[in-house]
Amino acid sequence: MTLTNRPRGTNDVGPGEIELWHQLEEKIRQVCSAFGYKELRTPIFEHTELFQRGIGEATDIVEKEMYTFMDRGQRSLTLRPEGTAPLVRAFVENRYGEGALPVKLYYLGPMFRYERPQAGRYRQFTQFGLEALGSADPLLDVEAIVLPLELYKACGLSGFQVEINTIGCPVCRPAYREELVKYFEPHADKLCGSCKNRLERNPLRLLDCKVEGCQEIMAGAPSITKHLCPECEEHFSQVLAYLDALGIEYKLNHRLVRGFDYYTKTVFEVTCSELGAQNAVGAGGRYDGLVEELGGKPTPAVGFAVGVERLLLALRGQEKAKAETAGPDAYIVHFGGETKQRAAQTAFFLRRRGLWVELDYLGRSIKAQMKAADRLGSRHVLIFGEDELSRGEAVLRDMKDGQEQKVDLQDLEQLAKILGECGQ
Ligand code: AMP
Repeated sequence: MTLTNRPRGTNDVGPGEIELWHQLEEKIRQVCSAFGYKELRTPIFEHTELFQRGIGEATDIVEKEMYTFMDRGQRSLTLRPEGTAPLVRAFVENRYGEGALPVKLYYLGPMFRYERPQAGRYRQFTQFGLEALGSADPLLDVEAIVLPLELYKACGLSGFQVEINTIGCPVCRPAYREELVKYFEPHADKLCGSCKNRLERNPLRLLDCKVEGCQEIMAGAPSITKHLCPECEEHFSQVLAYLDALGIEYKLNHRLVRGFDYYTKTVFEVTCSELGAQNAVGAGGRYDGLVEELGGKPTPAVGFAVGVERLLLALRGQEKAKAETAGPDAYIVHFGGETKQRAAQTAFFLRRRGLWVELDYLGRSIKAQMKAADRLGSRHVLIFGEDELSRGEAVLRDMKDGQEQKVDLQDLEQLAKILGECGQ
């Protein structure tokens, strides 16, 4: 380790890249606003127990991936590995459920998982997620799928695919679970190490193992469809009917399960062919038992989370990620001394009008300042020569066509107007 290396699995997002984030964040806010989802910001860390109870003890996240630490008061805290449990905690704690239902909320921020870093998989990554609490309406499941699709489309992403499944509920899942165990037990010695463990603790998770040997065994595993209770069956058929009515393409995948214990009924994932091994750009599902599990009143809910870095990777792969690269509105070239003071006064005035104005801080020659203005892509150069200044004037050069004009420094409002109009 050296002081100048960031921790493994983390990223810096700086100029050239941050503009894309800002554009994306703006689009997220626009889409959420159209669907009536309001932002909720929860703490970066929570009590460890929230995730143990919320996500489930027998999940990869809780068993292997959490950043957990004791604070100085000997409380066990965890950097949030996902956004749903914290949001539900806030929903219960702040009694949001006592107002109008459903409550529609979204979050956007960093999550932390101790995973093996690779392209599209980081230890600190960003999720945008939405959750609708307080209604069991299958239309909300569909909304949780469609809203991120609208975001992907607004970004120009193509080639994504929706996969959908139902994993039943506490009424019908136990019998299915038993069936699965019965099916897999005779094959136990051929399963990978993780699956052997899953067979005992979380048999549903066997279904999405990517190891080849396990996949072969999986091919003959019983499907949940035959085990659904009437309510789950009806719910799922309504979800599919809404998707059809809205013209949303999807693929039924009865092997799709999710890495969290809290899901019930509908689960879904959106993949993008651009992304290689880590190809999920988002995933979600219904979780009708979680609010109660965390101490609230029984409250049905459904949500979705988008991996923001992965979305940007996919957009970049499709050459849809173009940062806006507009330069300053003006670069003031000065000769040092008093001309620099005047340049600073003028720059600060214009900046207060919302214009991007640069000037030299390095005592460079006029030629070097012109070069710097050019390199920054400045729309104008404002030259503060001593002669002009003594007449209360400066020379404004339009860098597009090379035209020059004298501007009156007693009337900075007029100058701001000229610069502002060119910037539009
Ligand atoms: P999950 O919370 O596991 O359902 O993940 C939802 C989405 O977050 C995934 O589809 C990915 O797009 C993204 N994601 C999950 N884990 C990571 C990670 N370690 N690094 C980057 N993105 C991730």
